Amino acid sequence: MADPAATTGSPCGVPVPAGLTVLSGPSGVGKSTVVQAIRRNCPQVWLSVSVTTRRPRPGELQGREYFFVGEREFEDMAASGQLLEWARFAGNYYGTPREPVAKRLEAGGPGLLELDVVGARQVRLAVPDALLVFLAPPSWDELVRRLTGRETEPPEVIGRRLEAARAELRAESEFDVTLVNTSVKDVCAQLVALMTAQPADQPAE
Ligand code: 5GP
Repeated sequence: MADPAATTGSPCGVPVPAGLTVLSGPSGVGKSTVVQAIRRNCPQVWLSVSVTTRRPRPGELQGREYFFVGEREFEDMAASGQLLEWARFAGNYYGTPREPVAKRLEAGGPGLLELDVVGARQVRLAVPDALLVFLAPPSWDELVRRLTGRETEPPEVIGRRLEAARAELRAESEFDVTLVNTSVKDVCAQLVALMTAQPADQPAE
């Protein structure tokens, strides 16, 4: 039977067992849109807020989408072990603050990390029972369309992101589950269902 202490009531209709889930996949596939929808609709899902040296995009808030920091500050955090994982992506640093994740796991609640593939691999090593979910585009052409349609990025940044996306797509087989991003609503429902699934040896009540 599931440990009730490790579950919380859910507006999505099901209890949520403790555990860490990583949502990864190529840049431009729609990970952050999925995360935004989960932030809005499933407040019981705790979201890690990453640190980055990238500049805020219009509408992004300090401490909500990211903690925006300078390179020096980021490097100090990485060097002093404050980050669970970190990666350099398209010219900027991104990392997951270690302490909030540790506290969340200790408290027994579920948590979601949105990371690039390099970060997902590091979490696999640091938290072996984390569930690694790969978000795939419906097609390569669709991914190119989404990346080149982003007016917030200069062309050289888009070029770097496309190059990274090719490599990231090849990592799919390293993940536990693949979800294809045909619609944000469907992916959110599937992701929350995965996060709320009962382990095989613990039949649902
Ligand atoms: P963006 O600049 O579009 O917000 O994010 C660029 C890439 O960095 C995305 O693939 C995103 O998932 C990834 N990312 C965001 N936060 C983190 C993090 O804390 N660690 C790692 N490794 N990647 C991250």
